[in-house]
Amino acid sequence: MIIMFDPNPTDEAVGAVLAHATGFSGVTPKKYSYRGNLYTVVEVHLIGSTASIPTEAFEGMPGVTRVVRVSASYRLIGRHGREGLRVGFEYNGVSFQEQQVNLFAGLCAVDTRENVAATMATLADNEIVTTRMGVYKPRTSPYDFQGLGKDCLPWVFELAGAHGIRVIAMEVTDGRHLDEIRHALDQSGRATGVMLQIGTRNAQNFELLKLVGQQKEFPVLFKRGMGTSLEESLSACEYIASEGNPNIVFCLRGVKTHLGDPHRNLVDFAHVPVVRRQTRLPVCIDPSHSVGRMFQAPDGLPDIFHVVGQGVIAGASMVLVDLHPHPEAALCDGPQALRFSQLPRLVAYVKRVRSAYEEVLRLG
Ligand code: PEP
Ligand code: MN
Repeated sequence: MIIMFDPNPTDEAVGAVLAHATGFSGVTPKKYSYRGNLYTVVEVHLIGSTASIPTEAFEGMPGVTRVVRVSASYRLIGRHGREGLRVGFEYNGVSFQEQQVNLFAGLCAVDTRENVAATMATLADNEIVTTRMGVYKPRTSPYDFQGLGKDCLPWVFELAGAHGIRVIAMEVTDGRHLDEIRHALDQSGRATGVMLQIGTRNAQNFELLKLVGQQKEFPVLFKRGMGTSLEESLSACEYIASEGNPNIVFCLRGVKTHLGDPHRNLVDFAHVPVVRRQTRLPVCIDPSHSVGRMFQAPDGLPDIFHVVGQGVIAGASMVLVDLHPHPEAALCDGPQALRFSQLPRLVAYVKRVRSAYEEVLRLG
């Protein structure tokens, strides 16, 4: 059972509910608060056997707006039917919320300092302050390029700072990576920010999910499991919130089946409205890992553009896309990387699709 309060409730109102809840045996009340862009959301969750507790026991108490029985296992990230709920958070000057689209374009894997510098300069030319830079690469084969690891972090962060990059999405696969990132960020004088990415291969690595949930310094980009149902992925994502970190973006990146051929994965962006309806999380789409190749439609636009359009018109508010100065020479996922020359068109495309979406909403 979740007891929801007015925005910014008083300590007395929350305290009274907590005190009242302790009167019921077999339940443990737990307070959660999330600082949003406009106000702080506070909830009290009753964990345990709540079936015999009537919701009326809390309805009508000062400051309480709603009491809901929750059947979904993702109780913290769940929306629970609240239509007007504002989602999202702010991190290092970047707003992650449904009212805008953040384009995270960048290297699937950091390879050379020159390529990082060139990519960040191109992003700056296109007024983009968010990027992706893979440093710890979980690869299918041990003989494939595994990423440069911690050694490249100092110059990646330094270059990010020099080009005004505010947030880098970076996959982590182990708790040590968090320490290495923290250390390098400190050494760079906090030149930029990092969003910890949980890759699809680790979508059910519960110990890793707990680790990124136990810290609140970095937001988390959680990628849907490639071979798990949406429900299972949402439950796994809940681990992050249940450990204390509410700043999560849920990323769709396609699911593995040959039925998606010739695309690398079956593009699952039809789930954008589903995740938006079922959770309070901003939704990201990754067209690069979904499509996996630079196929081009007869209209001249790459399939990657077309699926970006499908996700953005459905209300996705973040796009994670591979970009490389020389895709043919990239050490990881070159065939799916956009060239610099394609970036201005992608930026224009995202803006126009987003405007079309907003216009349709205004039509009512
Ligand atoms: C990535 O974004 O670099 C990546 C490996 O993606 P995924 O985990 O979705 O395969
Ligand atoms: Mn990749």
